Amino acid sequence: MTKENKPSVLLIYTGGTIGMIENPETGALESFKFDELLKQVPELKRFNFRIDTYSFQPAIDSSDMEPELWVKIVRIIMEKYEEYDGFVILHGTDTMAYTASALSFMLENLSKPVILTGSQLPIGMLRTDGKENLITAIEIAAARRNDGQPMVPEVCIFFENELLRGNRTTKVNAENFNAFRSFNYPPLATVGIHIRFNEHLIRRNNPQLPMKPHFLFNNNVVMLSLFPGIKESIVASVLQVPGLKAVVLRTFGSGNAPQKEWLTRHLKQASERGILIVNITQCQHGAVEMHRYGTGLQLLQAGVVSGYDCTPECAITKLMFLLGHDLPLEEIRKLMDSDLAGEITHDES
Ligand code: ASP
Repeated sequence: MTKENKPSVLLIYTGGTIGMIENPETGALESFKFDELLKQVPELKRFNFRIDTYSFQPAIDSSDMEPELWVKIVRIIMEKYEEYDGFVILHGTDTMAYTASALSFMLENLSKPVILTGSQLPIGMLRTDGKENLITAIEIAAARRNDGQPMVPEVCIFFENELLRGNRTTKVNAENFNAFRSFNYPPLATVGIHIRFNEHLIRRNNPQLPMKPHFLFNNNVVMLSLFPGIKESIVASVLQVPGLKAVVLRTFGSGNAPQKEWLTRHLKQASERGILIVNITQCQHGAVEMHRYGTGLQLLQAGVVSGYDCTPECAITKLMFLLGHDLPLEEIRKLMDSDLAGEITHDES
């Protein structure tokens, strides 16, 4: 709360459709100034909140998002952490799930809400979904429990009518307003006439621990999706790329791969060269269980580690994050197997 006892929220505008306008010459959507965006939402004045803003210059389409820009967001949050009750990040939808995953690892011991949102239609358009998304995201960022603690001290995505744990999300629709899903973890809140928080699902760090920001990434990683007919020469050359540190291997079903001798051999050799290979499934629901079929077991025997029910966005950002911290390989393997920010469901949990 601010001195006047009003809730306070910092709105960080990175770009995305929400703040775009149609270029009259080309017809393409381009970013416009943040002040213009706020003028489109006079409703914000009706909140009895302190709402301050920070705008990326220039605003970006989220397809241009980069780890350096995640660092920039984290620096802003770090510098303003004590001043605000919560943070709302306006972000393009295309890579929002990657940013949400990355931030969930970068903001260790987070005890305040960091809510990402955006829209499918620019905020200036009559049928925009941006206004409701923005207004509700601000309300959620300022929401408190009866004991005065923030309701959702997590990195989340709010979109359309659900509040989702950020590192569990995937963009599933390029057209509908309901663009995000969290297939393997239920919504933290559902929004209709009321905002109904599922408090038992919300993660809480010890509020006594200081928030610890992290800034390092190593992007010597690749995502490799298997398909029937995948060629040995292509797999072999991907695994031989100089500097490669880790692979997110997108397998079939519960973590299965073709039973080709060459595939296990190349994966095993890569593993032995210190390349970490993480198995996640191409299915949206459910988890990898490498013990279940012989086609999965061969991967386990080749040194591949399980990514459980991690999304691709989360697996790749978690790897980049862990590799950035120059930890011994064994430690990274252990941490990939651990739930750091609510991103995986272990069998036993
Ligand atoms: N291309 C846009 C972006 O991700 C799409 C959006 O915002 O919905 O920045």
